[in-house]
Amino acid sequence: MSFSALGLRAEILRAIAAEGYTAPTPIQAQAIPLVLQGRDLMAAAQTGTGKTAAFTLPLLQLLGSRPARARGKPRALVLTPTRELAAQVEESVRVYGHYLPLKTALVFGGVGMAPQIKALKAGVDVLVATPGRLLDHVGQKTADLSAVEILVLDEADRMLDMGFIHDIRKILALLPKQKQSLLFSATFSDDIRALAAGLLNDPQSVEVAPRNAAADQVRQRVYPVDKARKRDLLIQLIGDHQWHQVLVFTRTKHGANTLAEKLDKAGISAAAIHGNKSQSARTRALADFKRLKLNVLVATDIAARGLDIDQLPHVVNFELPNVPEDYVHRIGRTGRAGASGDAVSLVCVDEHGLLRDIERLLKRPIEKIVLPGFEPDPRIRPEPIENGKRSQGRGQRPAQEYGKGHAKGHGRHNKGHSQGHTQGHAQGQHPGRKTAKAAPPRPGGPSRRGADGRGHSGNAAGNPGNPARHHSGTRHR
Ligand code: AMP
Repeated sequence: MSFSALGLRAEILRAIAAEGYTAPTPIQAQAIPLVLQGRDLMAAAQTGTGKTAAFTLPLLQLLGSRPARARGKPRALVLTPTRELAAQVEESVRVYGHYLPLKTALVFGGVGMAPQIKALKAGVDVLVATPGRLLDHVGQKTADLSAVEILVLDEADRMLDMGFIHDIRKILALLPKQKQSLLFSATFSDDIRALAAGLLNDPQSVEVAPRNAAADQVRQRVYPVDKARKRDLLIQLIGDHQWHQVLVFTRTKHGANTLAEKLDKAGISAAAIHGNKSQSARTRALADFKRLKLNVLVATDIAARGLDIDQLPHVVNFELPNVPEDYVHRIGRTGRAGASGDAVSLVCVDEHGLLRDIERLLKRPIEKIVLPGFEPDPRIRPEPIENGKRSQGRGQRPAQEYGKGHAKGHGRHNKGHSQGHTQGHAQGQHPGRKTAKAAPPRPGGPSRRGADGRGHSGNAAGNPGNPARHHSGTRHR
């Protein structure tokens, strides 16, 4: 199957050829023709499946081949849960739409509104936004959603997890009734289905594969080990196997910092990325990691969620995630785009329940390897997991951090696309100029404010914040 067989126009084919894509991914092969037919879509797809292009390519094609309902007003709206994902999607829109005369704008909280207002005033075809800040603009009448032809809800499950449902409903009420709606979600909870039922009109369902499909391409192993010996085991595994590029997941920011320091001391170059790190620190760490200047990047789940590192060979779960689906997200960082990957989990006795949940989700056991010298001590009794809220439901993630600092920046698309940056793109609005810090856990799940950046400053009240104030990385709420 080729992209041209999907009916995409020459300008788009040129842009994706420049990206080096030779064939559509399964989600693209299924979704693109349906979107081009104008159908509403309910798509099960995770990061790493090529889902962004699956909605962006046909969206651009549709906009490029019909007249706008009104001049200058956004014709397509893509809502994302976090500012980083918004930036990433907007970058994709610019890259894929490079040869089309369409303008994009990016709107998210935590930074000044003025450049965004300027971009919106200049006229926008594709608006990529986080919900809270978009509503701020609507409230100030700097965004007008009355001419939206296509709506995309990206990572809808994460938006609901983060408590955006009310904002989403408010936004939906502002959109024309007659529109095409595409809902992308990694999982389909009852809440997502309820949202879809109210929004989608005779939708087509697209499910590329079971939601643990990413896991199928990845060699997965569990090393049972005592908690106190995990670090030494990791050092040994890295040394024995000469792993040069390893993404290591910890459950907490503090754990990420400590582990990175200890690895560094053991002669393994490592850095930590998480929501408390400034954007510049995260970008630097990621760039160094990609260039193999760093062997190990230690990350928390939220920090790593959107990381796009080509053919990352190894992922290590230093600690298992609290939510089984996050295991699948984590190991999806390796074995991407058809490449085989390698995922290792260091599992102590406290985590046996988490492991069982993961195996239940995968519908199969994971291979266990006990490394001589690291045999777990059978006398050690399980203890409750620090920060691990095993009793929590899916919608109640531990509030570790809210700045989803994947620091992907411009690394996603490897070619230079500098021209595109000026196309209605709010300059200086890339994420992480200010990094959100953890808010206290709320019973109903994490505050949305951190991700969306509302409520940090005058911005929430609609005043143009002073971006300079936000430049330093970390701010405490
Ligand atoms: P996504 O799931 O949208 O986050 O995309 C994951 C990665 O796959 C990104 O780096 C894309 O640039 C890349 N990608 C998307 N579509 C294709 C394709 N058809 N062939 C190769 N890489 C792709």
